[in-house]
Amino acid sequence: MKLFATSDKDQSTRLKRLSMALTLYGVCLLMGGVVIRTNLVSIDGVAFAWLSFVVAVVQGGIYGAIRSGYSTRFEDPSLTLFQMMFGVAMVTYILSIVLPESRGAVLNGYVLILLFGIFQLNKSQYLLAAFGCIASYAGLILFQAMDPPDNFSLKIETFQWIVISVICLSFTSIGSYIRSIREGLKESRVGLVSSHKEITRQRDELQSAHKELQNALRQLGELAVRDDLTGLFNRRQFSETLNTQIAVAQTTGAPFGILLVDIDHFKAVNDTYGHLSGDDILRSFSHIAMKCLRKTDFIARFGGEEFVILLPNTEKADLLECAERVRCYVGSLSFDNICDGLRITVSLGASHYLEGESSEALLGRVDEALYLAKDSGRDQVVYQA
Ligand code: GH3
Ligand code: MG
Ligand code: MG
Repeated sequence: MKLFATSDKDQSTRLKRLSMALTLYGVCLLMGGVVIRTNLVSIDGVAFAWLSFVVAVVQGGIYGAIRSGYSTRFEDPSLTLFQMMFGVAMVTYILSIVLPESRGAVLNGYVLILLFGIFQLNKSQYLLAAFGCIASYAGLILFQAMDPPDNFSLKIETFQWIVISVICLSFTSIGSYIRSIREGLKESRVGLVSSHKEITRQRDELQSAHKELQNALRQLGELAVRDDLTGLFNRRQFSETLNTQIAVAQTTGAPFGILLVDIDHFKAVNDTYGHLSGDDILRSFSHIAMKCLRKTDFIARFGGEEFVILLPNTEKADLLECAERVRCYVGSLSFDNICDGLRITVSLGASHYLEGESSEALLGRVDEALYLAKDSGRDQVVYQA
């Protein structure tokens, strides 16, 4: 397991900060050791050894609490305030074991501790840490004033206390200024992220609304040209196709035929089996008829139980063959789902486009052919030239 590396971003920041503190403690203890060895300043060696031991134990504990994730149950998982208060206690202890004339240098330890928490603590926590420094030193001075050690000067100590108090309080206000700038930066970053998210959300909404609109328009377009019940093209679309075909025929001279199909005695089917069964037959017929046609043929519901088929590039023989195919196929089927053995027949009128004639004239002729087919007994095809 790596000592300080982790994939958790917050945890990694905490461990980084702790490694800084550990390094600092290490350097300070090392320097303390050097100072003692070289007799640069007179410090009680045993007391220093105890201090080193306590630092090692407490820092080990803090590392364990952070590394294991145990510290996340606290409000401040990086244990900064605790770490600072421990630092304050350590500095105060060192102050108590060095000679009074060396204290000026050690007092910088308080400043170092306050620097440590400048980004992490809130205003009241920071004030607490600052007052911790001020009160600890004041306590030490008062304690030592009762039984003054050699070279102890209450005046100098009081002066140093005033200076360190002013520095600590200044740090408190500088700290809150730095924190407010940091918060502002954080907020504007959060604001930027959320407005970017909002823009992305609105763009997605717009895109899906656009898609829905396109679908709706496509469906509307389909509805305009399709028959609701059978899904075949409607009469309006047939008229347009017929007019286009007439224009093609006029330029190319290619023949095309028309079939008008009418279901025989359909009213009786409705009356006997109900309108819904009638609808069912109309739908079935549209599928049946399509099976008898080529891809280029065009079928539409002309109205009621009448259907119209346009067959481009078709001579009379092929037109009649197709008509017979439709008639025979329909006649061969049994609509058992409506009634066992129910059969229907169709009558068809057929004709060809004659050069120069209107669509009305052509349709009139086909209608006439259909009438003749009905009149001649139904279930047959009549061609009208
Ligand atoms: P013919 O053999 O002479 O064509 O007789 P028919 O009964 O088929 O003709 P008629 O014109 O007398 O009746 C057509 C029937 O088609 C009457 C009408 O209710 C029915 N019809 C028209 N449109 C629909 C529809 O969309 N659904 C249903 N179920 N019936 C329809
Ligand atoms: Mg009819
Ligand atoms: Mg009919």
